[in-house]
Amino acid sequence: MQNNKCLELNANENSLGMSASAKQAITDSLGAGFRYPDNPRAALISKIATIHGVAENQISLGNGSTENIRATLQMLQYKALKEGRQFQMVIPVPTFDCAEMYANAIGVPVVKIPLTTENYDYDFDELQKAADDFDGISLLYICNPNNPTGIITSTSRLKAWVSNAPDNHYFLLDQAYLEYVSDASFESGIEWVKQGLSDKLIVIHTFSKLCALAGMRVGYAISNPQAIETVEAFMSMDNTNLSGAVAAIATLNDAEFLALSLRNTNQSRQMIETVLDDLGLRYLPSQTNFIFHEIKGDLKTYIDRMRDHGIKVGREFPPVTGFNRLTLGTPDEMAAFIKVLKLFREKDWV
Ligand code: PLP
Repeated sequence: MQNNKCLELNANENSLGMSASAKQAITDSLGAGFRYPDNPRAALISKIATIHGVAENQISLGNGSTENIRATLQMLQYKALKEGRQFQMVIPVPTFDCAEMYANAIGVPVVKIPLTTENYDYDFDELQKAADDFDGISLLYICNPNNPTGIITSTSRLKAWVSNAPDNHYFLLDQAYLEYVSDASFESGIEWVKQGLSDKLIVIHTFSKLCALAGMRVGYAISNPQAIETVEAFMSMDNTNLSGAVAAIATLNDAEFLALSLRNTNQSRQMIETVLDDLGLRYLPSQTNFIFHEIKGDLKTYIDRMRDHGIKVGREFPPVTGFNRLTLGTPDEMAAFIKVLKLFREKDWV
């Protein structure tokens, strides 16, 4: 629920708001709300397939990409059960916590491997070891870029692992922030699916970030047709509601909005990087719509003080300490945040 009194810089939403074209498409679709959303779903799948150059049967729509995460876990849990094997998920920590929450809910053991202390990147040796030491099925949940750090990982290292992994290693590559990535070394897992790098790779993406449709709950998975068919069995029927589907199509067709959305976030990132440089606070090289930056003093106190000043910032992300995750809102919102941050510096709070 939105709290209008507070600046919401805590959930990596896109505070530019939905595009006018998405709002119009939703309004125009309301008359068809009594029908199942087969046609708009099919149109959306077709649009996504064209954009990525994959076949329509390589796409599974989700009620947000988090539904794709849940279904992948359930699919592999069931597969392991049928084959009489063990199943575990291996994740770096901190990372986006939804996969862990679903795993806990359905009783899948989770092995957590801390990020490296030098650069907050994935500890590939330890991640790989956790999977290699397990003779059941392992699901590696990897966000690239990661949340909360906002950084991308080594393309060559990840690609080498995915392409050489044994048959019992599955990869769920979460690319929620794909469109924000500007680092030329990055390769999208969608290209790897297309190249047939691994038939154990599922890539997910969302309309919640650049497309500003978090509340409409639209996401998707891309993989080989057989994996998609298996995972589809665990997705809810007719998911991606009518409004979400038409809003997603309208946004994808709205090149002007998409460019504005990216420009907006890039401008906000620049503003925040400048002030953090001025204040001598370190930050990680964000490739997302949020930035993970140093704060001085106790993190919980910082979060509480920000809230007292009308700003919700990111929560704690153990085991990392001394850093806060700030969502990059509109430049106006960033200007308001910067004012408060400078005030905190005057008070010696950061
Ligand atoms: N994946 C990552 C890495 C995220 O950071 C988020 C949201 O913060 C999501 C997925 C949520 O996706 P959706 O809104 O599509 O369920």
